Amino acid sequence: MNTKRLFIIGGTLVILTVVGSGGYLFWNLNEENSILKNELSGFQESLRAVKSILRGTQNDNVSLVEANANLSKNLQGEEERNNALETQVNDISGMVQNISGTVGTLQKLSQTDKELLKKYSKVYFLSENYIPSRLTDINKDYLYDPRVEKKIHAGVEPFLIDMITAAMRDGIDLKIISAYRSFEEQMSIKTGYKIVYGSGANTFSADQGYSEHQLGTTIDLTTSKLKMLTLQFEKDPAYAWLIENAYRFGFILSYPKRNAYYQYEPWHWRFVGLQLAKRLHDDNKYFYDFTQREIDNYLVSIFDR
Ligand SMILES: [Zn+2]
Repeated sequence: MNTKRLFIIGGTLVILTVVGSGGYLFWNLNEENSILKNELSGFQESLRAVKSILRGTQNDNVSLVEANANLSKNLQGEEERNNALETQVNDISGMVQNISGTVGTLQKLSQTDKELLKKYSKVYFLSENYIPSRLTDINKDYLYDPRVEKKIHAGVEPFLIDMITAAMRDGIDLKIISAYRSFEEQMSIKTGYKIVYGSGANTFSADQGYSEHQLGTTIDLTTSKLKMLTLQFEKDPAYAWLIENAYRFGFILSYPKRNAYYQYEPWHWRFVGLQLAKRLHDDNKYFYDFTQREIDNYLVSIFDR
């Protein structure tokens, strides 16, 4: 019996111990769980805080990007305004340059003798008092007769020398037989022409020819062989050379064959400047074919190289 009671008491004690420790375990677990729950909610809160900070940062970023875009837009606007200003400044300085260019051209033109490119005809003569502004002696080496001094317009002289030396290099023997002639000289020379040409002399030397020689820009050419002004010059290689090359030195044939103005003068060459001579050559035209208005455009550049 005693053993049975002891067994029961022992069993009860074992059961109580098991139940007690199970309850403790349960309580303990419950406690741990609630601690964990607290920690979790703490984490969640922190996460929310981080998220909101992150959102704030993102918003700040968006604002920064917008601000940046605005700035660059402003900058672009500023640049455009600067460019527009620069264009205006350039336009104005271009205008100033044009104006000063025009003033320079006008000044140059005002200093250029307007007679130098005039067409002379039966109705338009040079004044008998006209004398070129600058005359210079031609080097005797280039004269047909070195004993007789010849003068030429000082602005034309370098072009003339260039032309004759270029001809010499090509084996062409050009000689200047006449150049500048004053009105008086022209009057007296008429007699001389009559001897060579007979009554035909009147048709050119009395009515026309002299005007261009009085300008100081015109020369009559011959060769050592021909020795005078003759229509034979037309058949000489010197004439062919002049037709081919004279324009490169600013000289043109004033009175070509079958021209409507004057008698044919293959020896008579007038300086009109490089630009006009080239234009006439390229267009296959003669000086007297052009209108005076067309010719006048070339006056300002007559002595330009
Ligand atoms: Zn002549």
